[in-house]
Amino acid sequence: MKSCKDIQAQLADYVVGALTDAQRAEIERHIRDCAACARERLALERTGALLNALRPQETPAQLWDAVRNVIESEQRRPWLERLREAFAFPRPAYVAGAAVLALAAGLYLMVLRPPPPAGAETDNYIEQHGLMAWNDPLSDKAALGVMLAQAAAPQETP
Ligand SMILES: [Zn+2]
Repeated sequence: MKSCKDIQAQLADYVVGALTDAQRAEIERHIRDCAACARERLALERTGALLNALRPQETPAQLWDAVRNVIESEQRRPWLERLREAFAFPRPAYVAGAAVLALAAGLYLMVLRPPPPAGAETDNYIEQHGLMAWNDPLSDKAALGVMLAQAAAPQETP
């Protein structure tokens, strides 16, 4: 007994008649009792009918010649000219766009940026202090003093 997932994986082949008689019979048995798979088959049949109703469009006869002409004219241009074009100076629209972005970023940084949270200056100082003492952690004499004082103090008994 196949699952709905297995049946639905075969439904497209069923609809176009690409299955063996045994496979078709198995799917038809399943569809008799399964509304979900029956709906799926109906949807696939309608899709197939719509696709069959479409007529293939004729490509204009001169289309390929025009494409080939463009490709060949591109290949005939000297490589230096193509390279120069690839790295050409940005167009005015790009420059204007970059200026607007820079202006918006500057406005945000100057006016709209939220103020730093309270204590941020202290955190910054602690971070800088830590970075300056990274290669000699025992050089922090204040911390050493606190540690020694704690070690020397009489232990509190709970
Ligand atoms: Zn099913």
